[in-house]
Amino acid sequence: MRATQLYAPTLRDFPSEAELISHKLMMKAGLIRKAAGGIYSYLPLGWRTIRKIEQIIREEMDSNGGQEIMMPIMQPSEYWKESGRWAVYGPEMMKLKDRHGREFCLGPTHEEMITTLIRAELRSYKQLPLMLYQIQNKYRDEIRPRFGLMRSREFIMKDLYSFDKDVDGMNISYQKMYDAYSKIFTRCGLKFRPVEADNGAIGGGHSHEFTVLAPNGESSIAYCESCEYAASDEKAELKTIKAEVEEMKPLEKVETPNCHTIEMVKDFLNVPIEKTIKAVAFQDDDGRLILAFVRGDHEVNEIKILNAVEGALHLHMAEESAINDANGCAGFMSPIGIKDGTIIVVDSTVMEMYNAVAGANEVDKHFINVTPKRDFDEKKIIVTDIRMVKEGDPCPHCGKSLKMTRGIEVGQVFTLGDKYSKSLNATFLDENGKEKFFEMGCYGIGVGRTMAAAIEQNNDENGIIWPRAIAPFEVVVVPVNAKNSDQLEYSEKIYNELKDCGIDVILDDRKDRAGVKFNDCDLIGYPIRVTISPKSINENTIEIKIRKSGEIFVFNRDEYKEKIIELLKNL
Ligand code: ATP
Ligand code: MG
Repeated sequence: MRATQLYAPTLRDFPSEAELISHKLMMKAGLIRKAAGGIYSYLPLGWRTIRKIEQIIREEMDSNGGQEIMMPIMQPSEYWKESGRWAVYGPEMMKLKDRHGREFCLGPTHEEMITTLIRAELRSYKQLPLMLYQIQNKYRDEIRPRFGLMRSREFIMKDLYSFDKDVDGMNISYQKMYDAYSKIFTRCGLKFRPVEADNGAIGGGHSHEFTVLAPNGESSIAYCESCEYAASDEKAELKTIKAEVEEMKPLEKVETPNCHTIEMVKDFLNVPIEKTIKAVAFQDDDGRLILAFVRGDHEVNEIKILNAVEGALHLHMAEESAINDANGCAGFMSPIGIKDGTIIVVDSTVMEMYNAVAGANEVDKHFINVTPKRDFDEKKIIVTDIRMVKEGDPCPHCGKSLKMTRGIEVGQVFTLGDKYSKSLNATFLDENGKEKFFEMGCYGIGVGRTMAAAIEQNNDENGIIWPRAIAPFEVVVVPVNAKNSDQLEYSEKIYNELKDCGIDVILDDRKDRAGVKFNDCDLIGYPIRVTISPKSINENTIEIKIRKSGEIFVFNRDEYKEKIIELLKNL
């Protein structure tokens, strides 16, 4: 490829709307262009990187037993109604109707599609395990599309689905994909961590997110430096904190005028925050009131609440009227005196407290000396871990302090069990001729998000620093002055020699000033730049510059190819 022929319109400045460096650089270097909020075109340089990421994914999927297929983007509503997800997927699903009024969606994911695809024809245990995957556009009407390819509404995803005859088989498939994902992100040159994750709306058994470590990432993860434990903040398990045993004092109601936050209460009553109980009131999609209680210095984890409350799919802040109907009082709530039938979820650490402060369900009144073990009716409440992890919490595996960091979720693996095979009635015949439901798994990678994450992790003030494996070109050959025919000719020779070695190389034959071209090379982020100057021609040497380290090497003509190949291995 020659730069004079390459369509790579660069921008002088960063677009004002771009917040993240990856988004800014993708726009400035001419990798992508926006069509509408969260919808992008990929220009040649961007698309080359996408194709390289896809190729790495394909190789690892294929060598682990995956077979590539392509399913429709447009999916009939019937399958989603059958699985029960048409009504519950929510406004993220892009729905449309054909001219006959039949309903479809643009696939946000393909569990329904694949399960109905195989259910008529995958009939025998002898055909298992089976792993099918595709790399395709997905559609999600994200509430806040932003950060370029990081959170878009149309995005490329690799999704693989595994079918096994039993749980053991499913776990083997899961492990294969887990290992394949580790290889993929390593090959892409990313620093990442697999973290234990919540299964979310997709349901099923266990799950890991592959998270690229980056300070601007949207995911928050807790990890242990002493052992391998890492989990998303939503998932991180927390042990119950035991409080020191105290003599239980009698429950007493006290005046707390205008103290409707936990901070005000603690100051007014002059008690440590660890001695207070905080309430958060939610309602689910069916309007059911859900009251959650954690220690004053803790935060509630909505995902854990959803997992604890049967049938709850989403949480919304509760209406004051719903709280009043349950005999509660916003700002002054506790489980004591709440109407029977209200869903009350109490963090297990709260149940260990003695002589604490909690609301009295009356305006401007709190209870003191609340001892939940004595004062809460355990038959009417759900007690479990519902708090959010924070730095310093003990690791659930080894007990050492957890650390928090941020990251970008680039992939996720799930075991699904028989959730979809059951709801969509997909069965096979086992060794004994008995009808059984498939044990499934699903495994996604965001291709565009992986590209964005790579830039988040690899850039400097001059631009992108691509890991070699996913760089649009590995090497750029730049004649300092392309108007000089000797330099251009010499550069062409070098360009062809490198191409013949199998190196992905581009010749910057533009007649612009050297400084302009060097800036573009740095902006676009080619891992190695070969600079051809009159000196190189006279001395029969090759000068190269490493984008990442800024190091400059001068090699002899007879050794430079091997040297470049060697250097590329570590970039
Ligand atoms: P998130 O929590 O970030 O919304 P998700 O958990 O809903 O993502 P999955 O259903 O696990 O996403 O999809 C698999 C992969 O697809 C994700 O790991 C991510 O890399 C990618 N992905 C998901 N949503 C988007 C999006 N809106 N834009 C770009 N990539 C996405
Ligand atoms: Mg996910």
